[in-house]
Amino acid sequence: MGYVKRIGPVLLTVCLTLLLNGCGETDDGYTDKQLFAMDTYVLLRIGGENTAALETAAEKIGMLETELTGRDADGTGGAARLNASGGQEVAVGEELFGLLEASAAYSEQTGGAFDITTYPLTKLWGFGTAGRIPDDAEIAEALTQVGYQKLRLDPERRTAVLTDGAQIDLGAIAKGYAAETVCGIFTDYGIESALINLGGNIFVIGSKLDGSPWRIGVADPEDTRETVGVLSARDTAVVTSGSYQRYFEQGGTRYHHILDPVTGRPADNGLVSVTVICDDAVWADALSTALFVMGEEKPVGFWRETGGFEMILIRDDRQVLLTPALEDSFEITAGSGYRVEVVS
Ligand code: ADP
Ligand code: MG
Repeated sequence: MGYVKRIGPVLLTVCLTLLLNGCGETDDGYTDKQLFAMDTYVLLRIGGENTAALETAAEKIGMLETELTGRDADGTGGAARLNASGGQEVAVGEELFGLLEASAAYSEQTGGAFDITTYPLTKLWGFGTAGRIPDDAEIAEALTQVGYQKLRLDPERRTAVLTDGAQIDLGAIAKGYAAETVCGIFTDYGIESALINLGGNIFVIGSKLDGSPWRIGVADPEDTRETVGVLSARDTAVVTSGSYQRYFEQGGTRYHHILDPVTGRPADNGLVSVTVICDDAVWADALSTALFVMGEEKPVGFWRETGGFEMILIRDDRQVLLTPALEDSFEITAGSGYRVEVVS
């Protein structure tokens, strides 16, 4: 029997420990709000006090959770209604439509590595419930329902159609979108120093109150209570996708939740963690998932060609690959056993 392990709380603990006790620093003058939403632990931390900003943000996250989850078969949100549409054209709200358009663009940009129509595969493998290894025929069958071209969008009518039995799951970008939205809310409230953490999807606004950068721990995939290193960051999204975040084990093998849309199986290429640092939280979230699927070689080429983001790739042999701009801002944890190589 398999089981699914959720690592969100642990990751958050790592971040909290670092931030609260942050390498000997004390963080005074912040107000925190913690909640459980979008299937993960959420921390909203602002400099100063502003109950209205925190309440507005928490409420918005709750609304997004309903609207964007396609997983709840009886759900009232837009994504659930689209999944239940049986191939009929469905009118879609503005936010969801924007995310569907963005998803389609990301699929194109990443050569299909990012694909929100992997949902039939997610269900088949049982991620989110008890895990199970499907047989080849089941995977082949599910793959006939997968492919981002099966989502048809009409921007003028703002409608969507899912063909060939396709269904969507925005799990790989919804938290990034929520982080970006909360960032917008905080900025509207005039907040100049804040940290938003939705289960490893982090957005930092400004610096810490003392003017120093925010410090974000990158979890050690082998022991998520530890860190591989700590990143100093200001005004940016920092998003990690890892094979240790949701998985089940069977016969000594780990089956994790990031699926290769070509093989229909968990991406298996030696990468265990991908962190993307980028101004755009939604792109950062999509990209961390996509780069994870691409493996080690392709992300470096993709980064060279596309630019606009930095990344930390961690391999199962404890090699850490960094883009050059992170050389000074990423500090490897002493004694972690990981080696750093800067790509160019
Ligand atoms: P997390 O949800 O742990 O933050 P990710 O952002 O990497 O991790 O998203 C992984 C989730 O996205 C999976 O749980 C699944 O719902 C969905 N997913 C799996 N494979 C893909 C893929 N290739 N493209 C887009 N979404 C995917
Ligand atoms: Mg993602």
